[in-house]
Amino acid sequence: MRRSRRGTGRRRDNPQSTPPNPYNEPMEAGKETRALAILGSTGSIGTQALEVVDAHPDRLRVVALTAQRNVDLLESQARRYGPRLVCMADVRAAGELRRRLEGTGIEVAAGPEGLLEAAAYPLADTVLNAIVGSAGLPPTLAALGAGKRLALANKESMVAGGELVLSVLRTGGEIIPVDSEHGAVFHCLRGEDSGDVEAIVLTASGGPFYGRSREELAKVTVEDALSHPTWSMGRKITVDSATLMNKGLEVIEAHYLFGVPYERIKVVAHPQSVVHSLVEFKDGSLSAQLSVPDMRLPIALALSYPERWGPPFKRTDLAELEKLTFGEVDRETFGCLDLAYRAGKEGGTATAVLNAANEVAVEAFLAGRIGFLDIEGIIRETLEEHRPTGVSSLDDVLAAEGWARGRASAMVDETRRQVRG
Ligand code: NDP
Repeated sequence: MRRSRRGTGRRRDNPQSTPPNPYNEPMEAGKETRALAILGSTGSIGTQALEVVDAHPDRLRVVALTAQRNVDLLESQARRYGPRLVCMADVRAAGELRRRLEGTGIEVAAGPEGLLEAAAYPLADTVLNAIVGSAGLPPTLAALGAGKRLALANKESMVAGGELVLSVLRTGGEIIPVDSEHGAVFHCLRGEDSGDVEAIVLTASGGPFYGRSREELAKVTVEDALSHPTWSMGRKITVDSATLMNKGLEVIEAHYLFGVPYERIKVVAHPQSVVHSLVEFKDGSLSAQLSVPDMRLPIALALSYPERWGPPFKRTDLAELEKLTFGEVDRETFGCLDLAYRAGKEGGTATAVLNAANEVAVEAFLAGRIGFLDIEGIIRETLEEHRPTGVSSLDDVLAAEGWARGRASAMVDETRRQVRG
């Protein structure tokens, strides 16, 4: 990750017809401002990022917002923050939004091309990618290709196309991780020599099913899986946390972001989610980053980098926390973590296949079509059938994903037939 470049401080002038709002006021003299494009602004990360903007209107200015289908929320965000460009990935939803925003002067783009336009938007210097799933990969590549600072929440970009992302990164742009674990590692590494790093230690809350047996997991419901004990997040990542696939995706993300081999990326259970992750150095010392679990903190840290902006959303009172505990992750009961290590070590298209099979299986679980443990089974079988090949273009990733989605969907149907029969 290139680290030294700062935001360009470019300011935008809103068109006359954009409704007045406090974010269009001139910035305070002397403070650097950042022009922000938020991809996935209607989601859990996206809405919290806008709370960060609310807290720092003198530092952050929204120039582009995108969503998939949530027209109502994107419309109200557009009216409030006055971006120059909005985009709906769903073309019909874009038509509806265009009708509603007529006369405001806000340009409405549509579909995958519109997302790319927002990711490479010339008026933005910082792009927050908070899209869920590997639909975030093309915008990640577009943002870096346009030389943007990319605040990356969309971990599936790195999992599906890590090699590609790194190759574009070598030509321009920079990545600041938003995921709390990777943000923690990124900050623990500040000022350190990468040669001194012994290992990266990612912490895992364990999700809602920490300590459960496979017999118990066979009976859990969608509602159970969506009740995360420490984090409030979108539905897909909440299920990923329950299966521990989220940690698996993070291991792969860490491998690409920090260039550390899989053998030296460890995972430790930490139910309180206060220690966000650690770096172990060759002299045996550990550096960690701590704070109460609230995603606005890592989002603000990523958007303010290399500065730190106060006041904080929350302070961490250590005495109130009383105790922090750590333990082994139960990798036999939660098999998705090892599947991710396996795919990561295989490399090439294997991680794109892992991710796509997971997306299909999680969606089917959320729709009540398969059971919780079927998620792991479907990913395992899809990976076993796959013969990984190298990745040299986005088409290689898309082809592998297409194949994996087809196989995983067929397995979902087969699982349903078996349950019914
Ligand atoms: P949400 O499901 O809450 O939000 C997803 C956002 O992406 C929404 O704005 C949604 O629009 C949009 N979107 C969904 N599908 C598409 C698509 N195919 N094309 C374009 N836009 C799309 O997700 P989260 O905010 O929870 O997660 C976002 C990313 O951040 C994920 O990669 C996740 O792993 C990561 N992350 C999330 C954390 C969290 O606390 N939530 C923590 C760390 C990482 P619409 O609303 O219209 O559907």
